[in-house]
Order: sequence, then structure tokens, then C-alpha cells
Amino acid sequence: MGATQHFADSYAGARTAFLAAAEAAGAAVESLPHPLKGPDNEALATDVARLGPAQARKVFLAMSGTHGGEGYCGSGCQTGLLREGLATRLPRDTAVVLVHAINPHGFAHLRRVTEDNVDLNRNFVDHAKPHPANPGYAELHPHLIPTDWDEAGRAAADRGLAAFVARHGGAAYQQAVSGGQYTHADGLFFGGRAPTWSNRTLRALVARHCAGAAAVAFIDFHTGLGPRGYGEPISITDPDCPADKLTRAWFGPEVTNPMAGTSTSARVVGTVAEAFADGLAPGTAFAGLALEYGTLPLGQVLEALRGDHYLACHGTPGSAQWRELKARMRAAFYGEEAAWKTSVFTRAADFALRALDGLAQA
Ligand SMILES: [Zn+2]
Repeated sequence: MGATQHFADSYAGARTAFLAAAEAAGAAVESLPHPLKGPDNEALATDVARLGPAQARKVFLAMSGTHGGEGYCGSGCQTGLLREGLATRLPRDTAVVLVHAINPHGFAHLRRVTEDNVDLNRNFVDHAKPHPANPGYAELHPHLIPTDWDEAGRAAADRGLAAFVARHGGAAYQQAVSGGQYTHADGLFFGGRAPTWSNRTLRALVARHCAGAAAVAFIDFHTGLGPRGYGEPISITDPDCPADKLTRAWFGPEVTNPMAGTSTSARVVGTVAEAFADGLAPGTAFAGLALEYGTLPLGQVLEALRGDHYLACHGTPGSAQWRELKARMRAAFYGEEAAWKTSVFTRAADFALRALDGLAQA
């Protein structure tokens, strides 16, 4: 079976393939139902497959769908790992936990956000404290999501964005747009004002599967940044903290870090890393990555996100415009061609082995 076979065309198809592969591999499977439905009235859930001893001291956790529709990629990687014999390669005293579609609503609806328009990877802040400020976003918001998506409306909005770039530069623009904001609930990269369903679900899974472990390796599959088909391994902890050092030791010198300015990603706060920081026992060895696969140039990805948020605010489900902008979302976060899927899965398998090798040394 070629690597392209691991990737499915819909959330429901991806879920079915993952569950079948998990069962065939002899995994223990648990499904956590989401309260809402998909666009075709399909059931939504986060599904979890666990391989290896119940009391394993070492755990490799790999997760898909943090950013909803990016899950087409991560799901294919997980299903491929199961089908291609991950279960038979486990080192002693090691378990693998595959968390499929942690944001199933976004996955099924082809959105990057959760059902409440929250960027899950900005949602793990302490909501009892004042939220991080992002004044640049407030300035950009009306231009990012114009009231009219017609030619004139977008031309005016694009002039507003271009003026910001002219004043502050491209890097500041990317940071203001994608660094996370907590003021505009209908906006892009909104971090939310309370822990969302997917946040609470991940925390529960970390407690159940990782809290008793002595060592944890984590890979979170993402798409939409960097060169097409390349998987950038992005450390999700602070530069040079013990976890960041371990991440580079286990996953290799090409590991980047947004906080050190070496990544294609903006600096972000409130990421899924906090679920591990809060949920693991003190002293647990932790190495955590976002494996970020490139699709289209950043400008086109942001354009697709603007269109999707425009649809959420002003669009008509099922309209020609809806279908066109959803097709742009899919192209922005997934590669349809065999070469993309093959290179994506090959990279995922490589990094899964690095995770297991690292745990074997722990
Ligand atoms: Zn992502």
C-alpha cells in the first residue's frame, strides 16, 4: 500500500480509516464524542488509539487536527503509522497514544478553528488573568474580514493591510495577524476567553495517558507554513529550557523555535504545550514538536483564512461562493498530489522513529 492510500477525502472517511487501522493493529480505542455534528450531520469525536503496556513509563503521543482542517494531513500520518507497523516497533516499557482529531468540529467543517471560533493553539492561556495584548490585530481586523468580499470590498481591505505592512514590515504583520488575539471573538487567531471543548479534552487525555509517565515525546501535526511538502520540526517550548534541549537531542539539529526567531512560525502563546506543562508530573522528561508541513505561500494561506472567516460572519452555506472559499481552505492546508502525501508521510514516519529512539534512551 502506497503512502497516498493513508490519506482520506473527508473527516468521516479519515475517522473510519483511522479506527479500522487501530483495530487491525490491536490498539485499545476510546472515542470521546463531541456535542455537535459535522456538515453532513455526521457524528464528531476525538478518537484515541493506544498501543503498548497499560503501565508503560514512556509514552509517545501524536496528535492530529489541532487546527481542524489541517487534520487531513495528520490523520493520514497517524493511519499510515498504524498500518505500516508502528505497533511492532515499540521499545520496552513504551506506549504509543494516537489522538485523532482533537478539534473534530474544525476538521469536519474545514475550518482552522473550533466550534466557537477559537484557535486551539492559542487557547491554553490562564483565562483568569488578563489576556495577552495584541494592538496590531485590532488595527488589522476590519481589513482582514471585510464586510463585502466582492472586488471593490477586498481591494479596499487589501489597501488597509498593505498600509500596515508598509509601516511595520512583513514580520510584524505576520506576528500581529497570527500571534494570537483575545479581543475579537469573530476574528482570526482568536484565543478564546475560556478553555474550549478540545482544550478540556486534551487535558483529560494527558492526565489519563501521560501523568504517570517518566518520559513523554509529543508530535502535533500541522500544515500551512513553510516550503511545500517540507515538514519543519518546531519546538513548542521556550528556547534552551530542558524540554527544548531534549527536543533537539531526540529530534535532531534541524528543530526550530519561534521564540528564538529560527522558525517560519510567529511567536505564539497558549499552545497545546501547556496541557503537558500543567499535566505531567514534576521531573517528567518531555520533548515536544509541532511538525509543520508547507502547502502554499503564506500570503495565499492567510487569504484563504480571511475568506473562511468572511464566510463564518457573512456567508451562505452551500452557495457558489461558499464552495469556492472552502476549496481555497482545503488547498491552503492540504496537498492533493501523491508527491506531497508521500513526502509528508515519510517525514512523519522518520520523526515517529526519532521519538521512539529518544524514549528508548530515556
Ligand atoms: Zn496548525
